[in-house]
Amino acid sequence: ILQVSSKVKSSPTWYSASSFSSSVPTVKLFIGGKFVESKSDKWIDIHNPATNEVIGRVPQATKAEMDAAIASCKRAFPAWADTSVLSRQQVLLRYQQLIKENLKEIAKLITLEQGKTLADAEGDVFRGLQVVEHACSVTSLMMGETMPSITKDMDLYSYRLPLGVCAGIAPFNFPAMIPLWMFPMAMVCGNTFLMKPSERVPGATMLLAKLLQDSGAPDGTLNIIHGQHEAVNFICDHPDIKAISFVGSNKAGEYIFERGSRHGKRVQANMGAKNHGVVMPDANKENTLNQLVGAAFGAAGQRCMALSTAVLVGEAKKWLPELVEHAKNLRVNAGDQPGADLGPLITPQAKERVCNLIDSGTKEGASILLDGRKIKVKGYENGNFVGPTIISNVKPNMTCYKEEIFGPVLVVLETETLDEAIQIVNNNPYGNGTAIFTTNGATARKYAHLVDVGQVGVNVPIPVPLPMFSFTGSRSSFRGDTNFYGKQGIQFYTQLKTITSQWKEEDATLSSPAVVMPT
Ligand code: NAD
Repeated sequence: ILQVSSKVKSSPTWYSASSFSSSVPTVKLFIGGKFVESKSDKWIDIHNPATNEVIGRVPQATKAEMDAAIASCKRAFPAWADTSVLSRQQVLLRYQQLIKENLKEIAKLITLEQGKTLADAEGDVFRGLQVVEHACSVTSLMMGETMPSITKDMDLYSYRLPLGVCAGIAPFNFPAMIPLWMFPMAMVCGNTFLMKPSERVPGATMLLAKLLQDSGAPDGTLNIIHGQHEAVNFICDHPDIKAISFVGSNKAGEYIFERGSRHGKRVQANMGAKNHGVVMPDANKENTLNQLVGAAFGAAGQRCMALSTAVLVGEAKKWLPELVEHAKNLRVNAGDQPGADLGPLITPQAKERVCNLIDSGTKEGASILLDGRKIKVKGYENGNFVGPTIISNVKPNMTCYKEEIFGPVLVVLETETLDEAIQIVNNNPYGNGTAIFTTNGATARKYAHLVDVGQVGVNVPIPVPLPMFSFTGSRSSFRGDTNFYGKQGIQFYTQLKTITSQWKEEDATLSSPAVVMPT
């Protein structure tokens, strides 16, 4: 199985061989530009999901360490906010180059800690890199507005200014991409940032922090703490934090949105999903089946944009046997093994949860057409593997339909018409993503207009917008009012200051106070 590469292993900075009682490496904190060993007495094991071996330990940062991290962010803010926008852009330009040069190294860490295949892990880094590249356009994105001659000798203009210290809380499923949605966008606007990566996959964030430092980001502009609930509460409550970016489950997201908002912060929370792929009988069959299978089972279904629900309309229901054949061809293996199509789930608990949801389908009257529960992967018998699973005859009131499964499970519903399909999708509380497969433009257009979901693919199974747009999940998949990245991301991390300015050429002294509203 993949080992931490020699380059990574020998690094004394961020993922170090430990002075801890065991020989397991420990993940450091990043405070004031230094990678420091935590003094915590509470540590969490990091497992390789393909073997369940302990590969590292991550601390739950102490209160003093979290205070030091936030003080560092606060100290660094005035000078960073005052740094010219061109200098901040230069840091990001160097950063995107360093990420490209280290892409494979970051991907290896992702596979080791998260389990996804190396090719998919490279995609994880690449999609984050695109946000960094987008952030390099700050010189246009951060422009304010102007309106000259609003009245005689008077001009009106606005600036976009940073907020101060911002914070990010990330999930386990995209260890590079999601942190990269957060701190590069915030920092290029002149904010400083406190990042809390997922405690299950901290490695990629630590390497990304090292690369940012190497790109010239001043000490204290990015700080990293680790932990779970205490760290999250600290972020929600701390008066010096002005905005929180969260990505993860609904349970955590709703809690963080409410607690953070109560403390007067801006909060954006991207959360769970149940994404439907509507298959029309006029679709290109081979493309559609391949796209469905790739989007349902890729990353072992652990993507918020996984296409986890198929709605087969009319004659398209006859394609079910072929769908099963396509899914059977996928190879399940440890993520670093050549030819692996999908790797393990993140934890044994996640595996148990997914298997229980499959069980619930049988109990509630659905049919299991392909069952991945008993899969054994040679050489990785202790891994958290579930093979591709397809459940048909699913009805909207069944547990396997109502819950986000977050595993390699495709649930299949059938309808007679497009209108019924739209009704099903719109009745589901989540609004993250959806796709329609059809060769009819009018059908596609109707679907895109009537479906109440924030991101729609037309013959595109995972319609995650590129970073010049924003990630626009809606309804129960999002709390807040300003989305991640794109123009919205810049809006989230800045505040407007509007200046009304009057310069008269001639001296025109007022003869009396102006006591009425100017008209
Ligand atoms: P999670 O909510 O368990 O963890 C996310 C973060 O919140 C972690 O940093 C964790 O330490 C913290 N956390 C966990 N439980 C908490 C609690 N009860 N109170 C406070 N903080 C808590 O999510 P996960 O399992 O890491 O990620 C999977 C979930 O994330 C799925 O629901 C998936 O759909 C969602 N997700 C959404 C998007 C999106 O953009 N909409 C993207 C990726 C993942």
